Amino acid sequence: MKQAKFIFVTGGVVSSLGKGINASCIGRLLKSRGLKVFMQKFDPYINVDPSNMSPLQHGEVFVTEDGAEADLDLGHYERFIDENLNKHATITTGKIYLRVIEKERSGGYGGQTIQVIPHITNAIKNAIYNGASSSGADVVITEVGGTVGDIESLPFLEAIRQVRRELGQKNTIYVHTTLVPYIAAAKELKTKPTQHSVKELRSLGINPDIIMLRSDKSIGVEQKKKIALFCDVEDNCVIEVKDRKNIYEIPVVLKEQKVDEIICNHFDLPCGESDLTDWNFMIDKVNHAKGEVNIALVGKYVSLKDAYLSVYEALKHGGIENGINVKIDPIDSETITRGNVKNILGKYKGIIVPGGFGERAIEGIIIAIEYARCEKKPFLGICLGMQLSIIEFTRNVLGYKEASSRELDNDCLMPVIDINQNQNHPLRIGAHAIYLEEGSLISKIYNNNEISERHRHRYEFSNSYINLYDKSDLKLTGKSDKNIIETIELNNHPFFIAVQFHPEFKSRPNRAHPLFAQFIKIIKNGSEVHNVKI
Ligand code: GLN
Repeated sequence: MKQAKFIFVTGGVVSSLGKGINASCIGRLLKSRGLKVFMQKFDPYINVDPSNMSPLQHGEVFVTEDGAEADLDLGHYERFIDENLNKHATITTGKIYLRVIEKERSGGYGGQTIQVIPHITNAIKNAIYNGASSSGADVVITEVGGTVGDIESLPFLEAIRQVRRELGQKNTIYVHTTLVPYIAAAKELKTKPTQHSVKELRSLGINPDIIMLRSDKSIGVEQKKKIALFCDVEDNCVIEVKDRKNIYEIPVVLKEQKVDEIICNHFDLPCGESDLTDWNFMIDKVNHAKGEVNIALVGKYVSLKDAYLSVYEALKHGGIENGINVKIDPIDSETITRGNVKNILGKYKGIIVPGGFGERAIEGIIIAIEYARCEKKPFLGICLGMQLSIIEFTRNVLGYKEASSRELDNDCLMPVIDINQNQNHPLRIGAHAIYLEEGSLISKIYNNNEISERHRHRYEFSNSYINLYDKSDLKLTGKSDKNIIETIELNNHPFFIAVQFHPEFKSRPNRAHPLFAQFIKIIKNGSEVHNVKI
């Protein structure tokens, strides 16, 4: 079996450095050289996964094909390397401890005393090696969440230190990312925080091979040399990652500094030159985009952009595909009333309602959906967005005012959205096949009658009400093999589509998801979708 190579990405100085983006960009570059890349994220928190964390604290929960609930960085990974990841890509302290404790409870350690070293660190190393074996990757990139110096990340750092001990220098690379702040009063960029952070890392036995400097100003050669000297890395291994408006340009920035060459030489990997033709074509499209469409994103968690990160990205991808800039304004559904909806949403060319959980701030969303329906504004509803679209139509068009969802009102008289009784897992999660009705708008958009999309929901359309819509403009156009309604669309509307799944997770910058691409296209062209050639 071939020996996989391992790249470990750590961060220092401050959090939110863009470690995940840097790691993803390295992944893209290596993939563009023909290498098979797998990526994984280690999160130092104790939650087993982020599924029970508030999106307002933690940001979106990303879902993999095989139904793992993960940190949003996995979304960056998938968008950059364009590979579907799996459950081995997301590891937390909680998950590691759970594994070790379960094994201990079942007597799997034969009487040993269980300790952080070696048992926890061994479980972490297994997770790293599983990433390689489950994917067959040439290179596994592991991002260690948190900041060097945090108590929580110590076992992860110790484990990655041991990996070099086991596999040797030629099979491992440590990339450390730091911040180089600019002090306006002194008109100077400061390298000291980087030096301290590397010192901290070295005290844990990890000597970085590559240092990536995040900065909003260009870092001069002298400063880089200084960092190389103090941190004991080669001059060419100090990489500058200056802030970019378009994050998708960063692989190119890294390539200019030969990051891929440094890595491949270090690993002694036989591979071709990197080919970013496709990627550069996409960047070119971004740079030549003309005009702008504005879209209102009406949701519950709008105070944190990260809560809907993949939706924002997918909308941008739709813009890239259509050569137009997309401006997305988050609108807090709690602020929307019947009295002000026109004022708030009137100026937008399109409305999107993403997913959400719980009964708070729902009525405002329903009012926004009604507005999109009546004003014939292009509308895309995702997950909760589909459930509320059905409720809105049932209440306001069919006249059943009591229609609701069991999630919003447990005792409701007409639960058109109800809990799935056959669910063993609390959520229906991961990829499922969906069958689209021949001739429906959505099947034309996908250019296919059979698709697969990722899910994360507990409630669903109740089939007891299926006949209610027979003669109406609301068409139930897609279902799963278990007869779960997956997609709806409205007749007599330019573009009103809502789906039970999360198309945003499968959109890529250079291959926009068809629903987002078409949503933006309709808004851009402002024409009747039924007459537009799809
Ligand atoms: N809260 C709804 C459900 O559980 C919708 C979930 C979502 O939007 N992801 O079914």
